Amino acid sequence: MKIEIQNRTYELPSHEQTLLSALVYIRENIDPTLKFNYNCKSGACGSCALRVNNQETLSCEYKVKDGDKIEPLLHKTDVKNRLKKVESWLHVESLKPMGEASEQKIEQQSDCILCSSCFSACPVLYVKPDFLGPYALTRVWRYIADIREKDKHGFIERVQKEGIWDCTLCGECTLACPAGIDPKADILHLRTKSMQAGYFDPAPPQEFQDDFGFNPNF
Ligand code: SF4
Ligand code: SF4
Repeated sequence: MKIEIQNRTYELPSHEQTLLSALVYIRENIDPTLKFNYNCKSGACGSCALRVNNQETLSCEYKVKDGDKIEPLLHKTDVKNRLKKVESWLHVESLKPMGEASEQKIEQQSDCILCSSCFSACPVLYVKPDFLGPYALTRVWRYIADIREKDKHGFIERVQKEGIWDCTLCGECTLACPAGIDPKADILHLRTKSMQAGYFDPAPPQEFQDDFGFNPNF
């Protein structure tokens, strides 16, 4: 079995194995210079995400096949900086228990393993490198949906610029997420909340402007 890693072909013993164990085999037996990250080996830490045949995947979970093409993730995004920009934490004076039903509402968004696959899959980052990106926006929705959060309006304000309106709603982030998180749906929730708070899309689709002959926001 042969796989290609960044334009170099490697021959592997053809028994069933994960991509991560194939990478370890290559490094130990063929190419000691091969660099890759991993940690938990069980799909829980997110550090081994790569692109296989143009799709993001966790290498510890993916079963390698003959002819696979492996690449690093796209768009080296500084996730921590983006989370800081949106103030991704609870703005509360004291933490109170929230109850099971309320916890369930934000359970999915809290399951992120910080693998960055959603950022890699997002086409907007090719043209707008400062776009907050799928996971940062999902994180914002997680706090807005948290009954304890006291500054929901602040969150809405912080996602107007380089945020929710720059998303094309293509859904690639949702397809890429190994944790079953749906950033596209969270962005739609944020858009609804924004409109309820009096914000509008600063750039409506061209057809809308053509039909009305003007941009209704100005
Ligand atoms: S739905 Fe939005 S955030 Fe998700 S990949 Fe598409 S453009 Fe990016
Ligand atoms: S939202 Fe999903 S794809 Fe994005 S960083 Fe978290 S686990 Fe990875």
